[in-house]
Amino acid sequence: MLKYIGIVLIAMVNRSADLDFMTPQILQELLKLIEEDNVKKFYKQKPWRTFRKLALRRDRNTCQDCFRKGNTVHHKKKVKEFPHLALRLSNVSTTCYSCHNKEHPEKLAPYNERPFVNEERW
Ligand SMILES: [Zn+2]
Ligand SMILES: [Zn+2]
Repeated sequence: MLKYIGIVLIAMVNRSADLDFMTPQILQELLKLIEEDNVKKFYKQKPWRTFRKLALRRDRNTCQDCFRKGNTVHHKKKVKEFPHLALRLSNVSTTCYSCHNKEHPEKLAPYNERPFVNEERW
């Protein structure tokens, strides 16, 4: 707990500090969830929830694209492709809902236009 408070303080004072909360255990669990195609579960677990709050505070709940209010934490490098970067502060930025949709055009694609084969499985 004390270690966590220290890390939070460093992040508040030095906004460019690149802090990494990933541990071998968290990474192992995340890799398992990716394999099971259940990354959603990762976003419900404590490591992400704590990390997310820290990232939002670093960015003062402000979208880093349009500087309006934002409460979505976006991974610059996708969790599925770069799982070891999932809890690294330099790999995330706060976005608002509409800027986040622009970052992920794939999420907006109509269902029937999605490719039938999920290439990420291969
Ligand atoms: Zn925005
Ligand atoms: Zn995103």
